[in-house]
Amino acid sequence: MKVLVINCGSSSLKYQLIDSETEKALAIGLCERIGIDGRLVHTPAGGEKVVKEAAMDTHEAAIKLVLEALTNKDHGVISSLEEIGAVGHRVVHGGEKFASSTMITDEVLNAIEECCDLAPLHNPANLIGIRACKALMPNVPMVGVFDTAFHQTMPEKAYLYGLPSEYYDKYRIRKYGFHGTSHSFVAKRTMELCNLDPNNSKIIVCHLGNGASITAVKNGKSIDTSMGLTPLEGLTMGTRSGDIDPAIIEFIMKKENKSIDEAIEILNKKSGVYGVSGISSDFRDLEAATADGDEKARTATDLFVYRAAKYIGSYVTAMNGVDAIAFTAGLGENDKNVRGGIMSYLGYLGVEMVVENNNTRGKEIKLSTDDSKVQVWVVPTNEELAIARETVALI
Ligand code: ADP
Repeated sequence: MKVLVINCGSSSLKYQLIDSETEKALAIGLCERIGIDGRLVHTPAGGEKVVKEAAMDTHEAAIKLVLEALTNKDHGVISSLEEIGAVGHRVVHGGEKFASSTMITDEVLNAIEECCDLAPLHNPANLIGIRACKALMPNVPMVGVFDTAFHQTMPEKAYLYGLPSEYYDKYRIRKYGFHGTSHSFVAKRTMELCNLDPNNSKIIVCHLGNGASITAVKNGKSIDTSMGLTPLEGLTMGTRSGDIDPAIIEFIMKKENKSIDEAIEILNKKSGVYGVSGISSDFRDLEAATADGDEKARTATDLFVYRAAKYIGSYVTAMNGVDAIAFTAGLGENDKNVRGGIMSYLGYLGVEMVVENNNTRGKEIKLSTDDSKVQVWVVPTNEELAIARETVALI
């Protein structure tokens, strides 16, 4: 079956058409600047990238262009829309309502709508994408795959904050966690690679991209994760602060005469390694600046690495051990300094690194020596394939 995977943001839309039998992408693409001017970048498998500047006022207009590109006689990959058997939608926040993927019905749409409070930047865009697809492909089954679902197995002691319980009772303020589709995909693959029994395994998945999170996966289930009510908690990220003393917010607001919205914007967009270095959120820029002797760039990288290593340590404690650690996403798959830096803290686990393997980029590879007590791997993530698999499984 051919599955269209849609990942809708507020002004962008990423898509892949995946053949579920071969698990290969037939085409991948992106609509950018929706509601502004509009650009479609479409790449058929094995073909040339097509870039089309085209007005797209709404997400529905963008999806129309995507469907046109997929069926175009020059760069299309299917002859008609009839070939699309299902659509899988990434949905960021499923609150406590969704512990797994689900067929999208009117009831489900309402439930996703109710989660908008928890993810005001993401869920409304996801809903727009789903509604636009339903309007254009009314008879095609659609599935919602939630970033939060995998973490719904966390025990109460992991997901509750030390706050008055009325806030959980009234507003469901708790840790939800994100990147669940990626953590689940990578954990499963790591179990295969390490020959671990799914029901007797302890894995730590480090999803290190611009947004970054680490998850403790015990017996195939998420038991703790570093992101929280929102994706701001946890690791120091590209531009997000991660964990800070909450009192800092009031302190900055008073000293700098900022509103609460401005303070939160600083924590989301101006902090992390970007804020610490004053240079960039991209680790390639930090590496270049460090090589030129920039101390702040070095400090930002050190801080990122140190925080990640501390999270790993805390999850070793939470699981009373660890069998395997997996690195994934932009940094986890590509950045030898970040991986090497984190691994340099893991000697107490009996981890020894094969330097030559760590010098590779973007491929599945074992980083630890054969006699390391804990295996460490690079496992490239593929959230779109994971969404396509879930979609096929459900319909
Ligand atoms: P997100 O999906 O959260 O926006 P990504 O997973 O794409 O983020 O990761 C972005 C990060 O990955 C950037 O900091 C970038 O420096 C790093 N990265 C991506 N490609 C490479 C590469 N080839 N070498 C080193 N770092 C890379």
